[in-house]
Amino acid sequence: MKFADLGLSDELLQSVLAAGYDEPTPIQAQAIPSVLMMRDLIGIAQTGTGKTASFVLPMIDILAHGRRRALMPRSLILEPTRELAAQVAENFEKYGKNHDLKMALLIGGVQMGDQVKALNEGVDVLIATPGRLMDLFERGKIMLTGCDLLVIDEADRMLDMGFIPDIETICSKLPTTRQTLLFSATMPAPIKKLADKFLSNPKYIEVARPASNNTQIVQHKVAVAGKAKRELLRHLLRTDNVSTAIIFCNRKTTVRELAKSLKSHGFSAGEIHGDMDQSSRIAELDRFKAGTINLLVASDVAARGLDVKGVSHVFNFDTPWHPDDYVHRIGRTGRAGATGRAFTFVTPEDAEAIDNVEKLTGGKIPLYVVDGADGAPAAADGEASARAPRSDRRAPKARGTKPERAPRSENADRPEQAERPARQERPARDERPVREDVPARDVTAQSAPPPRAPARQQRADPVDANSGDWNGPVPDFLNFSAIS
Ligand code: AMP
Repeated sequence: MKFADLGLSDELLQSVLAAGYDEPTPIQAQAIPSVLMMRDLIGIAQTGTGKTASFVLPMIDILAHGRRRALMPRSLILEPTRELAAQVAENFEKYGKNHDLKMALLIGGVQMGDQVKALNEGVDVLIATPGRLMDLFERGKIMLTGCDLLVIDEADRMLDMGFIPDIETICSKLPTTRQTLLFSATMPAPIKKLADKFLSNPKYIEVARPASNNTQIVQHKVAVAGKAKRELLRHLLRTDNVSTAIIFCNRKTTVRELAKSLKSHGFSAGEIHGDMDQSSRIAELDRFKAGTINLLVASDVAARGLDVKGVSHVFNFDTPWHPDDYVHRIGRTGRAGATGRAFTFVTPEDAEAIDNVEKLTGGKIPLYVVDGADGAPAAADGEASARAPRSDRRAPKARGTKPERAPRSENADRPEQAERPARQERPARDERPVREDVPARDVTAQSAPPPRAPARQQRADPVDANSGDWNGPVPDFLNFSAIS
C-alpha cells in the first residue's frame, strides 16, 4: 500500500513525502480512506502506530474546502493533556504547510486572551483539552454548532482522568450530523458506551500494539531485591551501551529521589513527573531531546504519549502496576526502525504485577541474570535466562559504597497512579483528580487528596483571561497558528 492509493490530495502527498514517510502504517492505510469518505471511526491504536497522521492527514483535505467563521471552529480535536495537544498541533503544522488552514490550541496554563482572539478570527481546527474548552464555552467565547468533525483522541486516558462527563457535554453541543473519530488504546466499557451513544455506524479498526509486537525491542526482566535496585541500575547504565534512557518509576517521590541519586553518582539525569509545572516539564524534556542530559527519570502520567525518538534503553525501575503502562513505557524505545532495550526490575513483591504484564504481552519476558545482584532469585522460575556477557557478570555493588536503603518515603508516598484509579471506579465527578490541564499554579495540588467539590466548581476558579500562568517560552503554535 502506498500513500498515493489512499485518496489524499497531491499537496498533502508532497507534505508526506517531505516528512520522509515511505508507506502508510496499518492504521493510516485503514483509516484515511474511511475518514475521507466522511465515515465515523473507532481506532483501537496507541501512540507509536502513526495514529495521529491517520486523522490529521484526511482532516486537512476535508477542511481544505469551506470557509472559516468567527467563534465557530470547523473541527475539534480533544486531547487529554497539554503535551498531546501540542504534539497534534505540531502534526498540523508539519503536514498542513501547503494548505491555508488556521488552527487554535486551547490548553490550560496558557493565556486565554490570545486564544479568544484566535477564535474571534475564525479557525478551521481547534485542538483542546476538555477543561479549557469547557471554560471558554461556559464564558460564551465559543460556539460548537459549526463543528462538523470531532476527534476524541486517547479516549481511555480521558476516562482515567475523569473527562468523560465533559466529553459527553461537548458532544451534545456539536451538530448531530457531524463526523466523529474516536481513538483509544483499549476499549473499556465506559468508552464503548460513549462510542455507542455518540458515533453512528462507525468503521472499527484495531491495530497491533506497537510494543508487544515490536521485535525491535529486546526485553528483559531482572530479579532484584528492592534495596539493590539503584546499584543494579547504575551497573546496567555503565555496562549496557546506554546512550539515552528513560527510567520509569511508579511514584513521584521515587522519580525525584532516583534522579538526585543518579546525579550524585555522576550521571547526567533529569526528571519529569506530575508535580512539576508545565514549563518545567517541557524544559526538562527539551534538555533530554537536545542531549544536554541523556537519562530521564519519569512517571507514567508525565511521560505517556510523548514522542521522544532515539531512546536506546527503557528501564522500568519499578514494575508497572498496570500492564498497559508496560506497553506504553517500553514503546519509548525501538521506535522508527531503531533497536532498543527494555529492562524491567522485578522484586519479590512484583510477582503479580509482572505476571499481569506477561499475560497482556502474551509471553514470558526473558530473565536477565546479573551475577551477584543482591537478592536476585536467578532463573528461579526455570526460564531460559539471558546471561550478561562475562565481562559484565560482576556484582553491581560498587566496592566500598554503602548499600543504599530503599527510601522510606517511597512506601509512604502516594502512588502517582493513584491519580487515576482503576477505570471501573472512575466516573464519579466529585472524586476527580486534579487535571493535567489545570493551570500551572494548581499542579502542585496533585500531592494533596483530590478535592471533594464538584468538578464544575473546580472550574469556577479558572485561569484569569489575561494571567500569564505559563512561565516558560511559548512556542508560536501554543497560542495560535496560521498554516500557510
Ligand atoms: P503517533 O502514533 O501518531 O504518535 O506517531 C508515532 C511516530 O511515527 C511519530 O514520530 C510520527 O512522525 C511517525 N510516523 C507517522 N506516520 C509514519 C509513517 N507512515 N512512516 C513512518 N513514521 C511515521
